Amino acid sequence: MDFLFSPPLQPVLPIVGDARLFPVRRIFCVGRNYAEHAREMGATAQADGLEPPFFFMKPGDALVGGGGDLAVAYPPQTGNLHHEVELVAALSGGGADIAVDRALDLVFGYGVGLDLTRRDLQARAKEKGHPWDMGKGFDQSAVCGALQPAARIGHPSVGRIRLTVNGQVRQDGDLAQMGWKVAQIVAELSKSVRLAAGDLIYTGTPAGVGPLHRGDRLHGEIAGVGELSARIV
Ligand code: MN
Repeated sequence: MDFLFSPPLQPVLPIVGDARLFPVRRIFCVGRNYAEHAREMGATAQADGLEPPFFFMKPGDALVGGGGDLAVAYPPQTGNLHHEVELVAALSGGGADIAVDRALDLVFGYGVGLDLTRRDLQARAKEKGHPWDMGKGFDQSAVCGALQPAARIGHPSVGRIRLTVNGQVRQDGDLAQMGWKVAQIVAELSKSVRLAAGDLIYTGTPAGVGPLHRGDRLHGEIAGVGELSARIV
């Protein structure tokens, strides 16, 4: 086949203990999945309990992935870049209308991720009822460490999720605080789109999001999953 120009490079993530690479397709993200973070973003509690999850996306090539110390460029058009540390689920299977009790079969493994956010652009979009894309889906906005296969670590549903910036704790929560669990997220999302191998799902962030600056050093960790190191350049 002849292409008009070279097709884009395939975004990939390394896999711990496996020389093969995980080819990344789409990046889905869940909004407001930890109650305390929803409150810090100004959401009011629903009397009838958990709101249905809502999703947004980042392009696959917004990924900055790897096992080492990742360099992330401070993006243009913002004065308020925020960190959101998240458990990332990586799918090696797909489908539509997936049942909750089958959903984890599709999850190959997990990583520690950052859903970087241009909070000022997101706030303006919310105010005007505009899409979030430019606040969320910009270049290098999806950071993720090496994947840990579920075959080795299982499917973590409890465990500390933490982020330090320049050695100071900013976010400190527990996976048990997730409103929608991974299996439920996969099932819900598959009602709207046919999921596929290579899709990543960022599962939401605990409270404590805040601004980043050039030169900041970030260290994320999720108990039983792994670590992530990044710096803003
Ligand atoms: Mn997020």
